[in-house]
Amino acid sequence: MDVRLRSDGTSECPECGLPRFPIAVDGGMVALECANRHRAMAPLPSDAAQRRVVRSWVARKGAQLHTQHERWETEDDEGD
Ligand SMILES: [Zn+2]
Repeated sequence: MDVRLRSDGTSECPECGLPRFPIAVDGGMVALECANRHRAMAPLPSDAAQRRVVRSWVARKGAQLHTQHERWETEDDEGD
């Protein structure tokens, strides 16, 4: 499934209509989560400015959602 990020780095959650925010960047993918904790993955944008927006969301959200981030990392078998 292909999730598109808007220019502000968010994307609308199809399940509840709230915006999903980037909470982690891993292996060229962005992990997004809405206020109802619906999750999605999207490809990291090719545009440098948009990538910066995404990383800025992650920096703000990462501290609060550290536990979820660790859960995602266990699902990611890319890398090693
Ligand atoms: Zn949702």
